Amino acid sequence: MGALGDAGDTSACDNGAVEDQDTIASASIPTTVTEPPAGYPAAWEEDAVLKDGFTVRIRPIIPSDAEALQDFVKGMSTESSYFRFFRVKRELTEHELGEFTTIDYRSHMALIAIADGRLVGVGRYSSIDARPGNAEVAFTVADDMRGHGIGTLLVFRVAAYARANGITDFTAYVLSDNHAMMRVFRNAGFSMSREIDEGVYTVSLPTEESASVLSAESEAERIATAASLMPVFYPGSIAVIGASRNKQSIGGRLFNNLINADFTGPLYPVNPKTKVIRSIPAYKSVLDITEPVDLAFIVVPGEYVLDTVRECAEKGVRGVCVISAGFSETGDKGVAAERELLEIVRSAGMRMVGPNCMGLLNTDPAVNVDGQFGPIVPLSGNVAMSSQSGALGLAILDYAADLNIGISTFVSVGNKADVSGNDLLLFWEDDPNTDVILLYLESFGNPRRFARIARRIGRNKPIVAVKSGRTSAGARAASSHTGSLASLDVAVDALFAQAGVVRVTTLEELFDVTALLANQPIPKGPRVGLVTNAGGPAILAVDALESQGLVVPQFTADLQAELRSFLSDDAAVANPVDMIASAGPDEYRKTLAAMLASDELDSVIALYIPTSVTGVAQTAVAIREAAELAPSDKTFLAVYMDSAGAPTELSSELASFPAFPFPERAAKALRKAVDYAEWLQKPVGSSVVFDDIDPDAASEVIAAAIAGTDEAVWLDPDGVDTVLGAYGLRIPQSATVSTADEAVAFAQGVDGSVVLKVISPSAVHKSDVGGVALDLATEPDVRNAFEQVTSAVPDPEGVLVQEYVAGGHEVLIGMFEDPNFGPLIGFGLGGVFVELIEDVSFKIHPLTDLDARDMIGEVKSGRLLEGYRGGPEGDIDAVVEAILRVSALIEDHPEVVEMDLNPVKVAPPGHGVTVVDARIKIRPVQGRWIPSRSDQPMRL
Ligand code: ADP
Ligand code: MG
Repeated sequence: MGALGDAGDTSACDNGAVEDQDTIASASIPTTVTEPPAGYPAAWEEDAVLKDGFTVRIRPIIPSDAEALQDFVKGMSTESSYFRFFRVKRELTEHELGEFTTIDYRSHMALIAIADGRLVGVGRYSSIDARPGNAEVAFTVADDMRGHGIGTLLVFRVAAYARANGITDFTAYVLSDNHAMMRVFRNAGFSMSREIDEGVYTVSLPTEESASVLSAESEAERIATAASLMPVFYPGSIAVIGASRNKQSIGGRLFNNLINADFTGPLYPVNPKTKVIRSIPAYKSVLDITEPVDLAFIVVPGEYVLDTVRECAEKGVRGVCVISAGFSETGDKGVAAERELLEIVRSAGMRMVGPNCMGLLNTDPAVNVDGQFGPIVPLSGNVAMSSQSGALGLAILDYAADLNIGISTFVSVGNKADVSGNDLLLFWEDDPNTDVILLYLESFGNPRRFARIARRIGRNKPIVAVKSGRTSAGARAASSHTGSLASLDVAVDALFAQAGVVRVTTLEELFDVTALLANQPIPKGPRVGLVTNAGGPAILAVDALESQGLVVPQFTADLQAELRSFLSDDAAVANPVDMIASAGPDEYRKTLAAMLASDELDSVIALYIPTSVTGVAQTAVAIREAAELAPSDKTFLAVYMDSAGAPTELSSELASFPAFPFPERAAKALRKAVDYAEWLQKPVGSSVVFDDIDPDAASEVIAAAIAGTDEAVWLDPDGVDTVLGAYGLRIPQSATVSTADEAVAFAQGVDGSVVLKVISPSAVHKSDVGGVALDLATEPDVRNAFEQVTSAVPDPEGVLVQEYVAGGHEVLIGMFEDPNFGPLIGFGLGGVFVELIEDVSFKIHPLTDLDARDMIGEVKSGRLLEGYRGGPEGDIDAVVEAILRVSALIEDHPEVVEMDLNPVKVAPPGHGVTVVDARIKIRPVQGRWIPSRSDQPMRL
């Protein structure tokens, strides 16, 4: 096909100058596909937010889009048409329309963008048999819709689709003066090469999701999401629909809070039954308000919500916060209603918080939005928070106020129909008022998106999360070691640990950690200095710190001498510094100053018990003043053990630090802060590529095993060997036999002794039923063992004869696909005892080299591989490599859902590892697993 050929070609064009605007036609186009054609990939329907905060719907094209496509082409400016078709084309022929809209979604694909019921952009590719893996691409955006980022978005999505369908390279033909199109390709982060011939660039770009593509895409996502939430957090005007004169009602309370907080813009109460609320004239409908409305709170009974939101859409409201309940939390009918609500919100390009939530607030004095109905007036500060539970949200605000934790923004996300926790993270990422982010989570919309976003944000701002409940993993029946181990809450733990999220289990811990992170520098390391006026609590404190793995180092002679110079002879100065009960303000001031100035410590804890009535206030002042002078590389906290709580003298504007009532809580909070610091300091690691693997050999085995079935199946032993072998995982010499004679024949060809294992569908763990016989050196041994193992089960299907691998440690490397989190990879020691010990590390695939090494360090028994107490050393490098090879296998073969290499025998350093028992479960998948882009599946 010639590059300058007929209109049916796929020359790429986009973003010319805007002209001929008057020619734009508009046929309304359905956003929802009710009767999808064959092969229609519904998973690619999506509502995407653009960089200026507006939303478009993206979906695959269908035949009935022909009319809208024709209108789109008719509306193109002369230049656009020229760039797209390399000549001016006013309309498409019937044949072309058919070809462009009736596609197979594999070799030919087109995604369209819809805004305001109009087709506003097309991105397509078509591949030809002659060049497998390659496709020609073209992109076009309506002239009046340029500059919103639609072209870039289509490039990302079409490339992602192509990637998922085995297309590795795009070719685009671009006229040399179509600079805008070239800019879109470049902005999308694709590494491209181009050649020019007669004024036409041939641009080649790999569809690979390289680091630069990923970062360009993340950046676009961040800017777009944050912009879309601006009207929600920084509204110029607010309507309260369902505002009420009744001060007890929710509508009354919310309206009052907004007034009492002095919202800086105009506030419009809407209530058809009232004329005036708190001296402000009320409107019958949001449509009666003549001025623009940015944000509307909706506090009407559930059955009126849809109509009310429709009116908001008509009015041009940018954001809604739906307090009203009666949606997906109530069952099937509610789910349908919520879907309809979302449809209204998205087609209007609005954003929605809720439904079924308690509101939101932004304490920034630029707006002062207190849009929640609780009785608490929160303090303004640097902590942002989202809560999935409304009631808990109220309690949390209350608690935060008590603990002097100031809030920047708070959102009760309710059912998260539109605005999700992930969206909020993107808003807070760049929010100058927020230093610490708190999340109360009950479920994840899209854990993979969370991981990606959290990992990036965590580098700059700590994220502290409470995740209640367990994953759905707990409910499934597990038939492998890895599976039963993974049924704990491990996916969430793994996700948080890899993304640097500080996970806490109780609300108390949430606030303790937050009070520390929000007020103090992150500790540089684990060394803690302690000063006290009472020996007993100091011992408790040291115990608590050490049991958290923190270090209470003995001070150097110099530091001890310095302390001794002003402390009494009875004082202990080695750390903890026990100044004894008579110590007063002066001792605290001087000791703290010396400890804070010392480079022997990372954190300093002032522990104080009021022992007499005198000097209490002065001591509090002295501790505070020492904290005010603390250098910025020291973390300072107090433990103030008084049932009346810490006195007001202890805090000031200059020195904000947490004062805990008990040493244990201080120790726990400090541990979390140190963990976070360690995560920050950790190098990121790199992914490892193996060039000695043979993915095709594995694919063949897998394809054969699942041919003709929809079910998950276990690979047979030969298949397992081939797949492991293809990924460079060493297996013992082995054969499947059906008679004792064959077993003997094989054994004679093996150097040392052999092992016999029965092959049987009923025996999940063969040794449990006597189906394994080890270390067989002679022919009679082999014959006896054959009898023994085959009679151990009712359904022997054959016997596996294996070379016996003597000695060495036994480790487990496993994999389990969590339905929400994707593949988890596990590592542990202990062979058959692994479940008993439950000492296993899990991480979310894919792994970096450092992840794999960390896994060994994370299991307590991992030290056995280092030759603990005279035991044999193991080849740790080979274990790390084996874990990474498993990760590579999973990456290439999404059919693998469960895998158990147990045991892997670990020889001494330099001698590698051997997988002596393995089970691999596979199931058919359609194409590759595709990460969903948004948090909500977009089948509307
Ligand atoms: P299962 O896990 O079904 O009970 P395995 O094949 O793992 O069966 O065998 C049980 C145990 O026997 C292993 O944990 C290991 O200790 C030992 N074993 C199995 N195969 C070998 C072998 N080829 N060389 C040495 N030991 C083996
Ligand atoms: Mg086993």
